[in-house]
Amino acid sequence: MRKKVIAGNWKMNKTLEDSLKLATEVVTIANDEVNNNVQIVMCVPFTSLYAVSNIVKGTKVALGAQNCYSKPSGAYTGEISAEMLKSVGVQYVILGHSERREYFGESNALLADKVNIVLATGMTPIFCCGETLAQREKGIHIDFINAQLTDSLFHLAPADFQKIIIAYEPIWAIGTGVTATTAQAQEMHEKIRNHIASKYGTEVAETIVIQYGGSMKPDNAKELLSCKDVDGGLIGGASLKARDFIDVIKGA
Ligand code: PEP
Repeated sequence: MRKKVIAGNWKMNKTLEDSLKLATEVVTIANDEVNNNVQIVMCVPFTSLYAVSNIVKGTKVALGAQNCYSKPSGAYTGEISAEMLKSVGVQYVILGHSERREYFGESNALLADKVNIVLATGMTPIFCCGETLAQREKGIHIDFINAQLTDSLFHLAPADFQKIIIAYEPIWAIGTGVTATTAQAQEMHEKIRNHIASKYGTEVAETIVIQYGGSMKPDNAKELLSCKDVDGGLIGGASLKARDFIDVIKGA
């Protein structure tokens, strides 16, 4: 039985003061209202990680970052290493979000290196994949996503692959208010699981958590999360308000 994982992606939002307020609210409400069947993660900006790590310590909420660099250390001005993230209590790292692929030119090859370093440091990558609307309309979305997985993840040994979380995020649904239908989400999650099975076998594929991301909100979370192969969510906009985030989590 796969445990559902709901991760909030705050993106480039929240000052330190705002982060402390939101994190405290989420932890407090989660403690009262969320059962232990769901793993909650908050992926906060780098500048808030250390302070938020003190708030989430010993609670139901785990700490996540939104990116890290592919090299262990050195002359890479402005970058943050996996080891630095680990040292402030980070347990999960989002990699390959479509915004990073689009605005910062992150390639499948670079992401393979980032996946390696995050795993080697003992944290869990949340690896994002997803197609544009044009790719879906052309009918090439499944091949496109399979290639993202193959190129960035399929070099891993099965034991390492099993530590990964995959987030399927159709780009046309991110921040747009347009959500994939349950049929579209279930179909894609099943295809992703089948692709994993073709490389690692069904037993491994059945253990992999595949989150859906793209305008998941309190009013659609329950339906999406009830799909057989949807094992959680990566939540952008709705993670910026404690009440909304908790209501999404309660949909699991
Ligand atoms: C995201 O950025 O990963 C995301 C899913 O955003 P939103 O929920 O706002 O669509």
